[in-house]
Amino acid sequence: MTTQTPEAPRVPGTDFVRDIVEADLKSGKHKKIVTRFPPEPNGYLHIGHAKSICLNFGIAREFGGRCHLRFDDTNPTKEEQEYIDAIEADIRWLGFDWGEHLYFASDYFEQLYEWAVSLIKAGKAYVDDLTADEIRERRGTFTEPGRESPWRDRPVEENLDLFARMRAGEFPDGARVLRAKMDMASPNINLRDPVLYRIVHAEHPRTGDAWCVYPTYDFAHGQSDAIEGITHSICTLEFEAHRPLYDWLIDNLPVPSRPRQYEFARFNLTHTVLSKRFLLRLVNEGHVRGWDDPRMPTISALRRRGFPAEGIRDLATMVGVAKADNVVEVEMLEHAVRAVLNRTAPRRFAVLDPLRVVIEDYPEGQVEEVEVPNNPEDPSAGSRKVPFSRELWIERGDFMEEPPRKFFRLAPGREVRLRAAYFVTCREVVKDADGRIVELRCTYDPATRGGDAPDGRRPKATLHWVSAAHAVPAEVRLYDYLFRSPYPGSDGGDVFDDLNPDSETVLRGCFVEPSLAELPVGETVQFERLGYFCPDPDSEPGALVFNRTLTLRDTWAKLQAQGRQDTA
Ligand code: ATP
Ligand code: MG
Repeated sequence: MTTQTPEAPRVPGTDFVRDIVEADLKSGKHKKIVTRFPPEPNGYLHIGHAKSICLNFGIAREFGGRCHLRFDDTNPTKEEQEYIDAIEADIRWLGFDWGEHLYFASDYFEQLYEWAVSLIKAGKAYVDDLTADEIRERRGTFTEPGRESPWRDRPVEENLDLFARMRAGEFPDGARVLRAKMDMASPNINLRDPVLYRIVHAEHPRTGDAWCVYPTYDFAHGQSDAIEGITHSICTLEFEAHRPLYDWLIDNLPVPSRPRQYEFARFNLTHTVLSKRFLLRLVNEGHVRGWDDPRMPTISALRRRGFPAEGIRDLATMVGVAKADNVVEVEMLEHAVRAVLNRTAPRRFAVLDPLRVVIEDYPEGQVEEVEVPNNPEDPSAGSRKVPFSRELWIERGDFMEEPPRKFFRLAPGREVRLRAAYFVTCREVVKDADGRIVELRCTYDPATRGGDAPDGRRPKATLHWVSAAHAVPAEVRLYDYLFRSPYPGSDGGDVFDDLNPDSETVLRGCFVEPSLAELPVGETVQFERLGYFCPDPDSEPGALVFNRTLTLRDTWAKLQAQGRQDTA
């Protein structure tokens, strides 16, 4: 795998995490930076994870360090191999590589267990027989201290014996837990004797039935960081209040290194939910067709929809790394994606709502190959040949029988340019018995071949077209936001009440130029004048399916311009 990101030199001071890293290298605190991306394999990665991936792998790349991929697989009831495979594929697709540094928290289960035993021996952990509900009840609140468990002062020997029997499988799920002996009166609830181990009799995707006690996130995470020699353990803000616990465990265990945790603000996006719990519900309740349904905010869905990885990386750079929670407008993501596609996507012809055009004076049976540039913004993209003939499809919306003043496209008696082909003039409108327009009869000017008139006259409109005899039929899927509200669920109602019933529109009977039959999945093109589109994996020879990646309208640029006007 080669990565496509250029090794851009970083401007110092770009964000606070990079500032810390830079200072630690300068002061000699660390010779080499080691970061990690620690997904739990309980779902597919979403665009919020992409932000964290770009940060962790990006820092490692920029500062000559390395970034580990570590699966935080401590919760066997929710984790699956399918997710592990998808996560690896998504990170690679985003353009990052962990080399040989692939790890699993489950690789450390034996070591973590030993360290738990050492905490017990030091009198700093105990086996609690309270149920989860009882523990919660006694935890207290922000204003009230918690209450100590009656099992808190068990002798060390009894704790060791019980913990060994927990591991041996003597007790059912939830019967006992191992807790750190910290401070039930701490103002930080996370320090009120947090649970370190729980009993779960479940098959683990990697360790099978070897274990029936599993470490909690808090007990596994920092210790895994220490085992791997992570220097900067970067996570999201909700873990800020866990940092004293992170440090306490590192201080009280014989770990081989001393990682530090740093927190940054979660990435949020308007019209989107970014919680795996909700995403799983969307899939399980059938609101979408799967994790990679193009309306989902998962990385695999964005890929399927035709978003280039570069656009997602650019967005991560644009939004930066903040210390305060914020919500990014989805239009900004679209803007970043359009900027890449405008540069890279080849232009093609497709007609989504076809209306037949017959050029009466064009010889029957004649076919010309007209030369069409692949990207007017990039001459190096070359050109292609597109067949032109007497019968064509144009967009129904490009014709009006009684055009209003500002409609410059085709109308009775009016001349327009067919892109890269000829000027044509509409002579007659053919309707069916119901009065619906079914065909336009036109004439053409042979002197305008290639799309320019020798006498310099210029029609006000240029239309795209496909030759009816050569066009390839296709289904085209248009997408809108999955949630209508920019902040789904913010009014206190059920998030799912806000689902957009029109988030997908399927168009059948569209026609695309012949070259598009060969376009591989994974490539995005611009259908001229319509937007960016890509073949969907549902495509089959003879039954093409395209996704609309985005329309051409950059609403973010517009929002920005409006913002400037408003403040001017
Ligand atoms: P979710 O809330 O979607 O379930 P999670 O935090 O439970 O996400 P993990 O698999 O534990 O999912 O996340 C792996 C890493 O990605 C963590 O370091 C986490 O902080 C980071 N991450 C998750 N969501 C976001 C987000 N919205 N913005 C930035 N980083 C995120
Ligand atoms: Mg998590």
